[in-house]
Amino acid sequence: MQQFPRDPKILLITPEADMSAARHGGRAKCLQRLVRMDLPLPTTVALSFSCVHAIANGRMPDMDEIMRHFGEAPLLSVRPSSQDPDWGGPGAILNIGMNDSRHARMCDELGEEAATSLYLRFIQSWAVHVARLDPDSFDIPDHPGPDALQAMLAAYEVEADEPFPQDPSVQLCEVLRSMARAWEGTTARLLRQAKGAPADAGLGLVVQQMALGVGQGECGSGVIQFVDSLTGLPQVTGRYLSQSQGRDALKAGAGAIYLTRDDRGPSFEELCPDAFARLLRMGDLCRERLREEMQIEFTLQEGKLHVLDAVRVQRSSRASVRIAVALAEDGMIPREEAVLRVEPQALSELLHRHVDPSAPRDLVVSGIAASPGAATGRIVFSANAAQASAARGEPCILVRRETTPEDIRGMHAAEGVLTIRGGITSHAAVIGRGLGLPCVVGASDLTIDRKKRQVIAPGGRRLSEGEIITLDGTSGEVLAGEPAMFEAVLDGAFRRLLDWADDFRDIGVRANADTPADAQTARNFQAQGIGLCRTEHMFFEEGRIGMMREMIFAKDEAARRTVLERLLPMQRADFARLFEIMQGQPVCIRLFDPPLHEFLPSDRAGLRDLADGLAVSLSDVEARVSALTEYNPMLGMRGVRLGITVPEIYEMQARAIFEATVQASRDGDPVVPEVMIPLVSAMREVELVKARIDAVAAQVRTQSGVEFDYRLGVMVETPRAALRAADIAQHAAFLSFGTNDLTQMTYGLSRDDAGRFMSIYVKNGVYEEDPFHSLDLEGVGELLKIGAERGRAGRPDVTLSICGEHGGSRSAIEFCRKQGFDYVSCSPFRVPVARLSAAQLAL
Ligand code: PEP
Ligand code: MG
Repeated sequence: MQQFPRDPKILLITPEADMSAARHGGRAKCLQRLVRMDLPLPTTVALSFSCVHAIANGRMPDMDEIMRHFGEAPLLSVRPSSQDPDWGGPGAILNIGMNDSRHARMCDELGEEAATSLYLRFIQSWAVHVARLDPDSFDIPDHPGPDALQAMLAAYEVEADEPFPQDPSVQLCEVLRSMARAWEGTTARLLRQAKGAPADAGLGLVVQQMALGVGQGECGSGVIQFVDSLTGLPQVTGRYLSQSQGRDALKAGAGAIYLTRDDRGPSFEELCPDAFARLLRMGDLCRERLREEMQIEFTLQEGKLHVLDAVRVQRSSRASVRIAVALAEDGMIPREEAVLRVEPQALSELLHRHVDPSAPRDLVVSGIAASPGAATGRIVFSANAAQASAARGEPCILVRRETTPEDIRGMHAAEGVLTIRGGITSHAAVIGRGLGLPCVVGASDLTIDRKKRQVIAPGGRRLSEGEIITLDGTSGEVLAGEPAMFEAVLDGAFRRLLDWADDFRDIGVRANADTPADAQTARNFQAQGIGLCRTEHMFFEEGRIGMMREMIFAKDEAARRTVLERLLPMQRADFARLFEIMQGQPVCIRLFDPPLHEFLPSDRAGLRDLADGLAVSLSDVEARVSALTEYNPMLGMRGVRLGITVPEIYEMQARAIFEATVQASRDGDPVVPEVMIPLVSAMREVELVKARIDAVAAQVRTQSGVEFDYRLGVMVETPRAALRAADIAQHAAFLSFGTNDLTQMTYGLSRDDAGRFMSIYVKNGVYEEDPFHSLDLEGVGELLKIGAERGRAGRPDVTLSICGEHGGSRSAIEFCRKQGFDYVSCSPFRVPVARLSAAQLAL
C-alpha cells in the first residue's frame, strides 16, 4: 500500500484551525463552530475532501498522524462531512478500537454487560458496512452474554475467512477506506446528484473520540431540538435513553424518555436537571451564533455532558417559514436572509393541503402535475354526478377523458380533477389552477370502461365509481384510498415573509383572474392587479353557457345582437365587481378568445339539449355545428379574428367594460381599465379593433357624461406578432406575451395533444422539459426578446409583461427581469411563490 507523506489536510478541530465547509465539509465546519462556542466536544479530527478522495484511490494517510491526537487506546467514531449536509454520505461507525483486550479491560471498568454490548455493536457495524457481509448473520440478541460475543466472533471468522481484526489502527484505516469508497460508488453519486450535488462533490470525514454513553453512574445519549419540526414553533423536543449511544434514543420501542417534564412519564429534565439546563443554554447559543435552529446530539458519561454533533433541524415547509421569520424578528439574521432561506416551492405546499410525505402511498397511476395540492374523494365520471355528490355532502374526484366548458359546474363541485388527455395548459389544468383545485392531467395509462363505470389502471387494476382516490396535484400521482394529509396554513409568518419579499422585489406580480372569486384570491395574495382576465371563462358559469351558444348559433347579426343585449348587463356586472375587488389596482381584460369548439356540445345528448334550448330541430343544430366545425380550431376562428369577423361581440364587451368603469369611478377612485386583444398577428387587426373600441368609448363618455381613460394592449402570442412588435406597438400601450399559444405556435405543437408523447420526448432528451411547463428560453425566449426589443423600438414606454402559464415560474421570472419586463402574471395561487422567487432573484 502506498503511504502518503504527512498530510496537512488532517486537522485537529480547534477554534483556530484553518477549516472551511468547501474543503472539510459542513459537519466539520459546524463542529469547529461548536468548539469556538466552548461546547464540550470530545477531541475531533477532520479529514479534507482531497484526503478522503486519495483514500478512495488507495493512498492512505499516515494513521499515526490521526491517532496521535487521541491518546492511549482510544475508542473512536467516524462520521461523514459532505459540503452540504443534505447530500448525505455513508452512515456513522462507532466504537472503532474495540478488540479482545480492550473488551477485557472494559469488563472490569464498566461491567461485563456494557463492554460486551459495545464490542458486539462494533463487530456488527464492521461486518455489515466495512467487510460487507450478510447482515442476517450478525443480529445482536436482546440480552447478550459472553456466549453471544464468542458466537459473533466465530460467525465473523466463518463469513470473512479471517479472524476479526484486532489492531485499532488497521480498524480505523479500513473504516476510512470503506466510507471513502462508498461515497464514490455509482448509487451514492446518483442519489446525491438528485439532491443537487455537483458530479465532483467531495466528502470529508470526522474522526471523534467516543463519549461512550454506557458504564457506571448516569450514562446515556440523546437528541434535543428547540423548535417543533412540523410547526416551527418554540418547543423542546427529543429523546434520551440511558446506557445508549449515537441516535439510539430515537429508535422506536427503545424505551427512551422525553426531555421535558410532563405527565407521560419520567423525563430527562427531572433525571439530569443540570445537564438539561445546560442544553437549553446551548440551544440559545446556537441560535445566536450559528443563526439557525439546531438539533444537538449529546452523551452523558458518568453524569458529564458531551456534545457530539449538531445538525440543522429537519423541518416541514411551514416550519421553514416560521423559523426564518422568527430568526429575523429576533435580530439573528437580516430580513434579506430570511427571504433567501425559504424555498419558493415550500410556499406552494403551504397554500394547499398536501399528502403527508411520510404516509404510505398506494400508487394507481401517474400523470402530469397540473394544479398543486392534494384532494381525496369518490370517483365520479360526469359533472352531473359531481354536483349530485357535492349535494349529498360527499367529496368527489371528477374523472374525465378531458374537460370541456360543460364540466365547469362539475369542477366547482369536485375536490379535484383527473383527466386522461391534455397537458399543462389544457382546459382542466388552467381552470384547476385558477380555482386552486388539485388537478392531474394526461394520465394516459388510464382507460375508462364506461359500461362498467370503472377506470382501468396499468396492470389491469380496476377502480369503480364511488371508490375513494386521492390526487396529488403536486407530484402528479393518483393514489388509492386516503393517505394522511397536512392542511393548508397561511399564518402570520407567511404573510410577514412575503411583505419583506415585496420590499426587495423589482418586477411586478399580477394574477390571471377570470371571476370575482379568482380576483378575491388574487387580492388576498396581494397581487398587483389582474394581468389577464379571460372573459370567455366568465361564460362557463351555470346559466350562461346556453346564452353563449345562442350567440354562437345566431343566424344573423340581428339575432346575435339580441343575445348580446342580454349578455351586456352580466358582463358589466362582472367587470364592475372585478374593479371593486381590485380597489384601484390595474385590471387587464382580454376580449373574447374562445376557440369556438370549446363551446359546442360534444355528444348527442348535448346537441339535443341545445336544440331544446334554441327551439330548433336537431338537424338544424347538427348542420350549424358542422358548419362551425374547424379542422384546426386553435388556429381557426379565434381571438381577434372573431373580433374582426363578428365585431358586435367586441363592441358589447368594450361597452360593458366602459360602463363598469364609469360606475366604479363614480363610487371610488377613477379606474383606468386595460383592454387586451388576443391572437393578433398583424398591425391592421389592431387598427381595426382599436377604431371600433375608441368609438364605443366615445359613445359611453357622451351617454354617461363621465370622462375616463383606458389603455389598449395586444397579446403577443403568435410568432408573427413578436416579429412585427414594432408596428403593433404603435397602437398598443402594452404588450403581454401569451407564452401558451406562443409555445404552441413556435414548436408547432398542440397544447392539448402534446401530453400524449411529451414524456417520451423528454425521456429521449428531445426536449429538456415540457415547454408548456418550463419556458423554452432558447426558442420561445428568443421570440420574447425580439418582441420586447422591437416593441420598445416602436414605442419606448410600452409596458411589457408575460401572462402564459409560465408566468409564475422562477426561470420565466428570471428571464423577464433580465429583459426589463414590467410584470409577470400567473394563477392566483402561484402569486405568493412568484413574489418570493422575484425577491430572491433581486437579492
Ligand atoms: C397564452 O396563450 O399564453 C394565454 C395566456 O392565453 P390562453 O391560455 O387563454 O390561450
Ligand atoms: Mg392564448
